[in-house]
Amino acid sequence: MTDFYYNNITLGFLVFKVWLFKIILCNFVIHCAGLLTRHNTLRRYLYLLGLLDGPLCRGCGVKEETSAHVLCECEALASLRHMYLGSFFLEPEDVKSISLGAVWSFSRATGLP
Ligand SMILES: [Zn+2]
Repeated sequence: MTDFYYNNITLGFLVFKVWLFKIILCNFVIHCAGLLTRHNTLRRYLYLLGLLDGPLCRGCGVKEETSAHVLCECEALASLRHMYLGSFFLEPEDVKSISLGAVWSFSRATGLP
């Protein structure tokens, strides 16, 4: 009887861990793939789909909110970029050498969808 409950609790915990891993993995893929492939919910892309009135960055309001702008040049994100990606501003070529984990952390820290 005790083994039955113990095994069910262990199995339930294992299922929960697998479910949690899938959520974390999906979150990782969505954030990184979206930023790196430009298929994301940044304002320029939503503007091109006709879902927003303007493509300007919600951080600085000066340039279009694109992946390159967010990852490399937005002044409003400079301190976060320095903290997570190692530099206040980047060249697009620099992004190739940054780990996906760092991009994911930066993406989450920005709060951008
Ligand atoms: Zn900006």
